[in-house]
Amino acid sequence: HTQDFSVSTKPVHGKVGRVPVGIGRRRMRIVVTGGAGFVGSHLADKLIGRGDQVIVIDNFFTGRKENVVHLFRNPRFELIRHDVVESILLEVDQIYHLACPASPTNVMGTLNMLGLAKRVGARFLLSSTSEVYGDPLQHPQKETYWGNVNPIGERSCYDEGKRTAETLTMDYHRGAGVEVRIARIFNTYGPRMCLDDGRVVSNFVAQAIRKQPMTVYGDGKQTRSFQYVSDLVDGLVALMEGEHIGPFNLGNPGEFTMLELAEVVKDTIDPSATIEYKPNTADDPHMRKPDISKAKELLNWEPKIPLREGLPLMVNDFRNRILNEGEGKGA
Ligand code: NAD
Ligand code: UDP
Repeated sequence: HTQDFSVSTKPVHGKVGRVPVGIGRRRMRIVVTGGAGFVGSHLADKLIGRGDQVIVIDNFFTGRKENVVHLFRNPRFELIRHDVVESILLEVDQIYHLACPASPTNVMGTLNMLGLAKRVGARFLLSSTSEVYGDPLQHPQKETYWGNVNPIGERSCYDEGKRTAETLTMDYHRGAGVEVRIARIFNTYGPRMCLDDGRVVSNFVAQAIRKQPMTVYGDGKQTRSFQYVSDLVDGLVALMEGEHIGPFNLGNPGEFTMLELAEVVKDTIDPSATIEYKPNTADDPHMRKPDISKAKELLNWEPKIPLREGLPLMVNDFRNRILNEGEGKGA
């Protein structure tokens, strides 16, 4: 370990592998599961940037080495190819658990990471989702709302998986005294987002760049609230470092219909972009907007970047990756 005095003096907890990085601030060893993915790679940048040691665990199911390749030369960065459905033993202070494509990872991966947190005394943060509210009957959604999820529906594998992950997290806290944090993340966008995983922002942006019509599902009047990734990362770190367990909604309350989103993409990328209506998927939530009063008050956090400012920040990254695809280099 080398000393690094470049980071903040904020006091933090932490039990292993610590060396001084400033007055009252020790370098921590932090695991980010899913750290080669969209959100995780931005989080890894932030943690490395403030002087901590970061171990990314990722099986590259949806993540890409390209997202973290710029960190490879940093001696404080490590990348482990590993599936969190299998257990792993590491000495760490904090675990940001972001790995998750679907229910099996939600449940088994969360169980393994909670087991690790218990064994080594690390603080554990679960990246849950606004999908725990299902097709909400309360608007905007507060953390006290229990949700409206169809347990046998097409999307319930993800939703119920995350709900189970929240349950396990609270059980490990109550039963084993693990220090836990729960974030309920609302729709987030930004550079490094998966190009083709079917999310609405990535679809519209990629379609507009490729000069294809933007596919609006259903009548396009359903709403979502879109958060820029750096706001989310700030919220995750504030939650991890703070004293409150949560759950906390982390999202931007700016609410848009899909037709309004298409307008913003059109204004940002290509004024001649068109839309094409397609049938909607089953159980699609009609509206979603976070009530973030709790995070504002207890974490002193709120998003700073509105959609019209954030969207242009992802366009170059998407253009480059789409261009490379065309040249057969892959995205
Ligand atoms: P992402 O797909 O880009 O990242 C997930 C990462 O986890 C990928 O790198 C993937 O390879 C890895 N991974 C998946 N299964 C794994 C396994 N079994 N073992 C190890 N690694 C595995 O997705 P993201 O958007 O960055 O999401 C990160 C987290 O935030 C997820 O838990 C997701 O549920 C949550 N979330 C995201 C959003 C959003 O809008 N992006 C909204 C709500 C919740
Ligand atoms: N959607 C759309 N066109 C697309 C992809 C999605 O109109 O090409 C709609 C989808 O029906 C949903 C909303 O956009 O109402 C958000 O979908 P996404 O999968 O991005 O997020 P989630 O439904 O998980 O909030």
